[in-house]
Amino acid sequence: MKEKHKKVMRGTGVEPLSSCTFLQVFEEQNLSLYTLKKGECDLCAAFNYGDLSQDQYDIHQQKKREAREENDSDKVSEECVYIMDLQSGLTANEFPTIITSFVRSQLPLPDHANKSILNSDGCCYQDRNTTLSNTLLPVAMTNNVVIEQEYLDKGHA
Ligand SMILES: [Zn+2]
Repeated sequence: MKEKHKKVMRGTGVEPLSSCTFLQVFEEQNLSLYTLKKGECDLCAAFNYGDLSQDQYDIHQQKKREAREENDSDKVSEECVYIMDLQSGLTANEFPTIITSFVRSQLPLPDHANKSILNSDGCCYQDRNTTLSNTLLPVAMTNNVVIEQEYLDKGHA
């Protein structure tokens, strides 16, 4: 924290606070540092500290349950389910090209399947955008297949 303060102040031309003064101000402002517990998302933590309303928390929990139920049903589905765990580095143009090429390579669908399901973590700039949907649409239409896009809710994988 102190190093971050020094780094920020370096660009301003103002001398950074000494460690002692920094800690004193930190305590005077009634600040504290909090590390998320394993499996705890920022929304759940915010609710536990009174920074998120009950309604917002209930909606978050409902979405979490629905995502898990959908995930469970995908695991036993006869459909072609492709689960993606995206890493940073791919742009909104690169990812649709890659995933569309992959989906196309899996066609025709096996006899037991009626659709392709793309299950991903919902990283907006990569897979939760109209670029990907608009890239998949012609594949679905020209091959007469259904392609569903499913996303996990924020904070719970
Ligand atoms: Zn949560």
